[in-house]
Amino acid sequence: MAVSDHVDLPTFMEGVKKRNPYQPEFVQAVQEVAEDIFEFIQDKEEYHAQQILRRIAEPDRVVSFRVCWEDDNGNVRVQRGWRVQNNNAIGPYKGGIRFHPSVTESVLKFLAFEQTFKNALTGLPMGGGKGGSNFNPKGKSVREIMRFCQSFMTELYRHIGADVDVPAGDIGVGGREIGFMFGQYKRITNNFTGVLTGKGLEWGGSLIRTEATGYGAVYFLANMLATKSEDLIGKTAVISGSGNVATHAAEKIVQLGGKVLTLSDSGGYIHDPDGIDQEKINWVKSHKTHRRGRIEEYVEAFPKATFVAGKTPWGVPCDVALPCATQNELLGDDARTLIANGCKAVAEGANMPTDLDGVHVFKAARILYAPGKASNAGGVAVSGLEMSQNSERRSWREDELQQMLKDIMAGIHKSCLTYGDQGGGYIDYVKGANIGGFKKVADAMLAFGVV
Ligand code: NDP
Repeated sequence: MAVSDHVDLPTFMEGVKKRNPYQPEFVQAVQEVAEDIFEFIQDKEEYHAQQILRRIAEPDRVVSFRVCWEDDNGNVRVQRGWRVQNNNAIGPYKGGIRFHPSVTESVLKFLAFEQTFKNALTGLPMGGGKGGSNFNPKGKSVREIMRFCQSFMTELYRHIGADVDVPAGDIGVGGREIGFMFGQYKRITNNFTGVLTGKGLEWGGSLIRTEATGYGAVYFLANMLATKSEDLIGKTAVISGSGNVATHAAEKIVQLGGKVLTLSDSGGYIHDPDGIDQEKINWVKSHKTHRRGRIEEYVEAFPKATFVAGKTPWGVPCDVALPCATQNELLGDDARTLIANGCKAVAEGANMPTDLDGVHVFKAARILYAPGKASNAGGVAVSGLEMSQNSERRSWREDELQQMLKDIMAGIHKSCLTYGDQGGGYIDYVKGANIGGFKKVADAMLAFGVV
């Protein structure tokens, strides 16, 4: 028997906490996965002996760097940038770049760890990574954002590559920022290659990449409801966020016959009892993305709606809920409120939006609850398809990609059933996703020996 095998979960987590001080988000993400994996591997000696979970919970590398840029007034500004390359057992590192003042090494380590399992679940050959900066794009001019992106890529370029690590967008990084970063990468390396995904259609991007995360989350939700012989027609939905994921989730809910009641941003949430239809979603997209506006201005455009400042929308009664803004935005008490109000299903569009208490509440209530690593995998899945199209130097049609996205989400749902079916009609999607993702990565790692 190996020296340190068969430690119990609390001892394992003590070690994780000790090795990662001041990194609460990372510790939380590891705990959520470890709770299921410890049970799964208890009779699987090799995973213990080879310390597989311990190794996945230690990033392959964390690159941290200074990003200097000049604002419009000529002031020199200094930010911190990171790329966390968590695990490349099944393919090149893959995961988004986030620009937000809340970004820390802990946040990026949790995201890269989660991404490792998510990417495995898609069935595509992608490892897990994540990157970003504490740069705040809010209130910056387009030129300032361009200069920042260029400076960020001037360091990042040496750590990435089409077969090494392929970043994409995330909070604060959309098509425009990907364009600025890709332009700088190409300029420095003289290499036109699929090194980033989320590119514009004219320069190597894929159709439906923008829509894929939100649409995929709703496809996953529809798959979950189908296990209860239900669909979205006539169902009310509460959604948080008003960015890429939230607006596309709202769009797909409406297309499938549901009624969206809320959207939010960091200032609060709007509640529209008439439903947020496609026309209103288009207004939000344009207002938030192009005009960089606040969601509270929705009530001026659509006066029947109300704005609630500084709150999340989980108190609004609904049939289904989709947290699509950020991590830890749905706490234990919010989960209790949702259940008390009759919510039947929760599909996470964001990464780790529900805190551990909330996860335990949803599990105990045995509702349909999908963790982000399963339900928001549509975005990275289409990113994987963008990589394939780049390698083949061709572009697939929209209907082909829509079908592939639906098939991939159905495949992830099936993996969750394989490992999460608890009998008696209850599926533990958290357990299903954790074990499904872990097994694929773990088996590849076993093949490589101790590296
Ligand atoms: P966007 O930047 O497009 O939108 C983010 C939204 O969340 C905005 O409405 C923003 O409000 C809100 N938000 C951000 N931080 C906070 C906060 N601390 N408190 C309250 N609201 C906040 O990002 P995306 O839509 O791309 O990403 C949303 C989530 O989905 C993230 O967790 C991301 O990791 C995850 N995700 C995204 C994927 C993608 O393809 N884009 C893929 C898979 C997961 P405000 O405008 O006020 O900042």
